[in-house]
Amino acid sequence: MQFAIVSRGDTRSAEIAQELTEKLQAAGHTLSEEPRIVVSVGGDGTMLQAFHKYIDRLDETLLVGIHTGHLGFYADWQPDELDELTEMITSESFEPVSYPLVEVLIDYENGETDRRLAMNDCTIKNYKRTLVCDLSIRDDYFETFRGDGLCISTPSGSTAYNKALGGAIVHPSIEAIQVTEMASINNLVYRTIGAPLLLPKHHQVKIKPHTKTEFELAFDHQEALSWSDVVSIRCAVAKEKVTFARFRPFPFWRRVRESFIEEGK
Ligand code: NAP
Ligand code: MN
Repeated sequence: MQFAIVSRGDTRSAEIAQELTEKLQAAGHTLSEEPRIVVSVGGDGTMLQAFHKYIDRLDETLLVGIHTGHLGFYADWQPDELDELTEMITSESFEPVSYPLVEVLIDYENGETDRRLAMNDCTIKNYKRTLVCDLSIRDDYFETFRGDGLCISTPSGSTAYNKALGGAIVHPSIEAIQVTEMASINNLVYRTIGAPLLLPKHHQVKIKPHTKTEFELAFDHQEALSWSDVVSIRCAVAKEKVTFARFRPFPFWRRVRESFIEEGK
């Protein structure tokens, strides 16, 4: 099988990546730029990097995560399990499990549109002043938001920024995106719903910034970019999915418990 490894870059992750490369090669697998299996060695942030690196080959790619820090949401293999992982990859003892992504369409003043995908979330923020924007859902005006920003997350990203913003944790078998507010200002002029919104597949949320001031758009771990020539940002469940290789059961809710409440048991 063709494989690739994405490492966080620290010494320990690099060593584990090297060790796994040797084990996989000894078992007859080949390092490739067009991998079937992509192993991320590091944390959840490393998995986000791996996802974006192979974003053009989502249909052909299966992701696996080894965590070199605390247990990750996306990275659930331990560094001392490399032999077991190699054997399971070799015997193809895994099944693909796919999670929804968020599609972000960025419409510019000149009529052009960019399309981006995120595995965790897309955030729209304005650090210098408050962000003011109109939200419509399925082209129906919903509210005018004024505050720090908005987060649009996927189900598997619901345990990241979304959770810190008071969003619900959503099981990845639910094809939805969630819109959460960052410090909305509510007064006689601006009134927002003040609760996270969970949108089903085919429901697009359109965010139209009011002012021409700059705001920042970020996708997952990627650095926020400043934009000033954007007329609207449209988010929906993407038609693509990200696929992980599942070698053994590790149910989502157990992962939630072990990441946030207590390990083991
Ligand atoms: P980071 O700043 O290192 O990540 C923040 C933390 O989120 C790290 O502990 C990371 O785990 C964890 N994380 C990432 N994806 C997760 C997921 N799906 N479920 C649970 N925890 C998750 O940056 P990063 O590692 O590149 O991650 C980018 C993500 O950070 C963004 O997509 C956003 O969701 C999140 N973020 C959160 C806040 C906040 O909570 N206030 C603010 C900004 C960004 P690892 O240490 O294993 O990488
Ligand atoms: Mn990180």
